[in-house]
Amino acid sequence: MIAMHNSFYNPDCLFCRIAAGEIPADIVYRDEHVLAFRDINPAAPEHLLIIPLKHIASLNELQSEDKEIAGHLLLAAGEVARRAGLYDSGYRMVFNTGADALQSVFHIHGHLIGGCRMGWPPF
Ligand code: C5P
Repeated sequence: MIAMHNSFYNPDCLFCRIAAGEIPADIVYRDEHVLAFRDINPAAPEHLLIIPLKHIASLNELQSEDKEIAGHLLLAAGEVARRAGLYDSGYRMVFNTGADALQSVFHIHGHLIGGCRMGWPPF
């Protein structure tokens, strides 16, 4: 039997499986395009990941047809920050992309971090 895979859901992708409810996560926000959940290994007092429901490996693979999803993800950030108690204190949104940025999960995710005073630059 031939497995039916569509380009929206990649069964080999951890974050697709979280979005599909196959792997549990501490979900704080969900709508028709994106999902936000707490990072399993937080790098700050508050550390959430915002992902598109559609499988897109990284910002490098984002296509013009995905602009509604991409815009939607950014629009959701303020609400995710509000739910995490970061809206007024501030937060940072980071998209690690590729080897130098140490991207380890190849499904776009914005790290939304906060809950402490951060430094800049981040290295
Ligand atoms: O930017 P990068 O690809 O390295 O980020 C992946 C993030 O996914 C890490 O911060 C890691 O802690 C998180 N993660 C998670 N739940 C998993 C596996 C990874 O929150 N089950």
